Amino acid sequence: MAPTGKGSQPMILEGISASPEVVSGKVFLVKMAPDDFLRRRIEPEDVDTEIARLRKALARTREELENLQQKLAQDFGQDHAKIIEADIMILEDPIVLNETERRVTEERQNAEWAFYGGISKVVDALETIQDDYLRHRSTDVKDIWRRVLRHLGPPAEKGLRKIAEPAVVVAPDLSLAELAQMPKDNVLAIATDRGGRYSHTAIACREKWQIPAVVGLGTVSRVVRDGEAIIVDGSRGVVIINPTPEQIDQYGAQERKMVARAAPRPAAERRPAVTTDGHQLDLSANIESVDELDLVISQGANGVGLYRTELMFLGRTDLPGEEEQYKTYRQVAERLRPDYAVVRTVDLGGDKLLPEQEQRPEDNPFLGWRGVRLSLARPEIFRQQLRAILRASAHGTLKIMLPMVSGVEEMRQARAIFEDVKDGLKREGQPFDENCPLGAMIETPAAATIADFLAEESDFFSVGSNDLVQYALAADRGNERVAHLYEPMHPAVLRMMKSVVDTAKAKGRWVGICGEMGGDPLATFVLVGMGYDEISTNPIILPEIRSIIGAVSFAEAQQIARASLEFRTSDEVRGYVRENLIARLREGGG
Ligand code: PEP
Ligand code: MG
Repeated sequence: MAPTGKGSQPMILEGISASPEVVSGKVFLVKMAPDDFLRRRIEPEDVDTEIARLRKALARTREELENLQQKLAQDFGQDHAKIIEADIMILEDPIVLNETERRVTEERQNAEWAFYGGISKVVDALETIQDDYLRHRSTDVKDIWRRVLRHLGPPAEKGLRKIAEPAVVVAPDLSLAELAQMPKDNVLAIATDRGGRYSHTAIACREKWQIPAVVGLGTVSRVVRDGEAIIVDGSRGVVIINPTPEQIDQYGAQERKMVARAAPRPAAERRPAVTTDGHQLDLSANIESVDELDLVISQGANGVGLYRTELMFLGRTDLPGEEEQYKTYRQVAERLRPDYAVVRTVDLGGDKLLPEQEQRPEDNPFLGWRGVRLSLARPEIFRQQLRAILRASAHGTLKIMLPMVSGVEEMRQARAIFEDVKDGLKREGQPFDENCPLGAMIETPAAATIADFLAEESDFFSVGSNDLVQYALAADRGNERVAHLYEPMHPAVLRMMKSVVDTAKAKGRWVGICGEMGGDPLATFVLVGMGYDEISTNPIILPEIRSIIGAVSFAEAQQIARASLEFRTSDEVRGYVRENLIARLREGGG
């Protein structure tokens, strides 16, 4: 809907439902113009930190330029290396430095902005000169600025930690790292211009934070004002800006119901799910941090089928060390014992970026340096994580899983490192579970297609349907414009999912599903019938999935799965499984 221009008129915007329930509150607007992070006023008490940050970045840039100089000298001779000498001189120019530090201390500009001001003096001077050579140097000066920016670390946070009172956060887009920086208790709901239902931010709103979220709203961040009243209806994928008193009343009743549902429940018995004819499968939960374990346990999960470990790596400038990781994984192992937890090695990349990835953006991050690719390219990070998980495996039942596998070489390389890490731990006399399995996520079409080869290199599989769907259908999971094409019940996806189970069974491998499809009640009969050994999903929905499994026999589910593979369109599949679900639940009195 187009903006009305009248601040007090209600305005309804439709987007994509990313996390259910309803909340009303005041808008906290996160502005993210591209240059916002470059120009920020700092508080007087932050001046010293900012100067220290700047000096560190300058020292690192100098080191980088010196290395480059050496390389140029080796490859092309001293004459070429001299160009860099001039860059270093500019970097250390007292005019630049004094001006930059003056801007920080007196004008309270952040380091990025202040250095830009300092170096601009040189750029301006060079650009007015008629000499071609010197004008060319001004381009190099900009290059120096970019280099320093890279070394200044991740963009400064966009005031996210400063959400001082409960509010609805409205932004053009929000990454998981940004979400993680916010004070959880003060974030009532999320509304963004961009994004899809299967982005990691949407998943975290549903599973971890359990707050309503509507994404893909197009213009919400441009039409709301800070502090304005807003209702977020995450179930219908709608927001109302400046609601009328009647709308507030109507939604208020729904909000109260939600509060009642969120009341704590006594812990359920932790057990597998069972069909009416006694077929059992593991029903486990997806988590992103230890603080979700209470919920996992109270919902009766008989394990954690996916522990996404990325949150520990995001929203900080350093990396978590082995000890920090070990303590965290150990808590998971101990709390769940005797049940298992599948710990996934970091799946950074895509929409979860390390500072070094943020500073060198890729054209197609979801097809880029992600998951196991990054782990193999940064073996020191990978080894540290493997050591931490293996040491924690002495305290419970842990399995290790690699994300984004696309070939046998990756599994082999990863296993070689895994074995080497185990040897190292043995030599040191560190206890660990020698039988700790190493599995592969099946989330690329390549992995699904060569599942038979991968089964020989992997101890188990878990299908990551969130990514498998986006790669199989070439529809970005976080892009609202192609959200209508992103369809887990697409016949191509169903065929892949079935062939992965069949291959895993033929090779004697345990196979689970840990993508969001596992939490879609319409998919439950199909997944059970295909023969998955485990469904791992959002702990909130787990009791519902358990009762759906309990409403069907394995033989019926197999028949439903077979029939669903015959349809040509996802609408037909959905229509068919919906009918079956309603019929079975009626029969069972559900
Ligand atoms: C998946 O891709 O289905 C999955 C479970 O992993 P993530 O959502 O973290 O990419
Ligand atoms: Mg994935």
